[in-house]
Amino acid sequence: MTIRPEPKPGVMEISPYVGGKSAVPGGRKPIKLSSNEGALGPSPKAVEALAKSAMDMHRYPDGGAVALRAAIAKRFGLDAERIVCGAGSDELIALLIKAYAGPGDEVLYSQYGFVMYPISTHAAGATPVTAPEKGYRSDVEALIAKAGPKTKLCFVANPNNPTGSFITGAELKRLRDGLPPHTLLVIDAAYAEYVSRNDYSAGVELVDAGANTVMLRTFSKMFAMGGLRLGWAYAPANVVDVLNRVRGPFNVSAQAQAAGVAALEDLAHQDASRAHNERMLAWFPAELAKLGLSALPSVGNFVLIEFPKAGKTAAAANEFLMARAIIPRAVANYGLPDFLRVTLGAEAEMREVVAALTDFMKA
Ligand SMILES: *Cc1c(COP(=O)(O)O)cnc(C)c1O
Repeated sequence: MTIRPEPKPGVMEISPYVGGKSAVPGGRKPIKLSSNEGALGPSPKAVEALAKSAMDMHRYPDGGAVALRAAIAKRFGLDAERIVCGAGSDELIALLIKAYAGPGDEVLYSQYGFVMYPISTHAAGATPVTAPEKGYRSDVEALIAKAGPKTKLCFVANPNNPTGSFITGAELKRLRDGLPPHTLLVIDAAYAEYVSRNDYSAGVELVDAGANTVMLRTFSKMFAMGGLRLGWAYAPANVVDVLNRVRGPFNVSAQAQAAGVAALEDLAHQDASRAHNERMLAWFPAELAKLGLSALPSVGNFVLIEFPKAGKTAAAANEFLMARAIIPRAVANYGLPDFLRVTLGAEAEMREVVAALTDFMKA
């Protein structure tokens, strides 16, 4: 037997993250609706800032991301001292779990919660615990019932990916009040920029109210900058201090910082992105209904479409769409084998999806 290095307990229990596909058979240009990337693409001003900063790529970035944190603070009315930036919110999810949980500890999230939570939990050697959902929505009372002395963190994606559902500001407050005070509540608000419901809250007031709640945000979805890897946390001072100790000193590139500042300043592009999404959120499910298909109610930039268990199945639809160079996201890995998640893309793209699904249902 050869002796070889073995990873820490937990690492080999990780089911590696499988990203949305980006190519289709035949090498045609695909319609990529598998990763919830903003339909309008990035702000032209962000692209310009990125190109300008390319000349300086021999310089290390500002490790404190001072200008970017100031721009985030200004745009969202927050205190820049309580913001920490990361290489995508995925990095911040991993850092929070690494900092607060280890072997013997539990990390709690809901049944259809985002897959990065179990991945980062196993990587830290901690134990993932899930609470059942009701009607494809996080169930606050079920989460509270699963929390105990070992629960170091509780993650709630709000809105959730892949379901598209959200819990109200009142439910979020009930969750915070019902969780033990030693449990760090992480509100992953990756799609907050899209939500216009007035009973929704991204959680800022809960972060402000104590020392045990964090809000995570990203530039990957509505800002359509996933390729640059940029996310941020809004946190109480004690958690900011912890994140700044465990993160890499230069975890956010200078190019991402420059593009992020420019994107935040381009309010017109943000308004256009939100307005486009509102239109698609109303139009696309109505078109599906005409085909006898239904989508779960969503407040994000994607919908989860339900297919019959036999005949016109989700797996068959996935294959049919792929053959038409349309890439949806299969979500069987979430325990949702009868659904496909489809990002709300540009209008022309969504019309192609409707045409393809029309043929699929007739075929
Ligand atoms: C996309 C997504 C993220 C991760 O985004 P980053 O690209 O890492 O910033 C985090 N949480 C949820 C719920 C997401 O859908």
